[in-house]
Amino acid sequence: MTGALDLFRLDGCVALVTGGDKGLGQGIAVALAQAGADVAVVSRSGDASGTLDAVAAAGRRGIALTADLSNVALVEGIVTETTARLGRIDILVNNAGIIRRAPATDYEWNDWRVVLDVDLDAVWGLCRAAGRAMIAQGRGKIINIASVLSFQGGIRVPAYTAAKHAVAGLTKALANEWASLGVNVNAIAPGYMVTDNTQALRDDPERSRQILERIPAGRWGVPGDLAGAAIFLASPASDYVHGHVLVVDGGWLAR
Ligand code: NAD
Repeated sequence: MTGALDLFRLDGCVALVTGGDKGLGQGIAVALAQAGADVAVVSRSGDASGTLDAVAAAGRRGIALTADLSNVALVEGIVTETTARLGRIDILVNNAGIIRRAPATDYEWNDWRVVLDVDLDAVWGLCRAAGRAMIAQGRGKIINIASVLSFQGGIRVPAYTAAKHAVAGLTKALANEWASLGVNVNAIAPGYMVTDNTQALRDDPERSRQILERIPAGRWGVPGDLAGAAIFLASPASDYVHGHVLVVDGGWLAR
């Protein structure tokens, strides 16, 4: 007999997590492994040893894949390599992302281009490549990492905000097409989390104080705060959840 908690198990599943070598992606990759999944970790450096050690400690198989996601020509190969080495792909977490900060009037085209390449184009390409495999097997879970800047404008991050709004829209568009085919496409929108992505904000005492004051939970988030949301959206527990952007922000957007 199975109980409700078994709905959250990922035994026998294979997950692909981009940017899983550190930060939020590492937290998600380890959480999925602890719930039972084998994990392929994509990073630009190819050094995902910290994550792979934690995956092994959870008793699961992990592999590291090297790819620069600003080159969209590589994305199909990432899915192919995952299925070749781990046998299948059940879960895709589009987590890798970059942010470039500058006033809009001074914003460099190169910064605009690379942020859109990594934060949107690679997400689209990986969704499509993994979606094809998942549709063929009649089952799959895609989780895109959005942001509270999928809902708000942010300050001095025009490319990032444009990309993250687009990620929320893409999540809904793909959910509409693929829900009836057994593939769930959802997103997680983290609030302000302690990772390299927000180092510049935390290094600025005034911005850091302003942000903290606005978070009802009274603290910045940490990678482990996404574990429950990620396991939920990766597991059978969310089988009837489609096109949802799940906000995990300590209450930031509620203010
Ligand atoms: P991070 O800087 O710690 O990690 C970013 C990850 O993306 C790294 O693993 C890096 O290897 C990968 N990456 C970056 N460029 C890449 C490229 N060209 N090719 C391959 N991999 C690349 O940041 P993080 O905070 O862990 O960010 C993870 C995701 O969460 C991003 O999509 C980010 O936009 C999103 N997010 C973060 C916060 C936050 O407060 N930290 C809030 C909302 C959303």
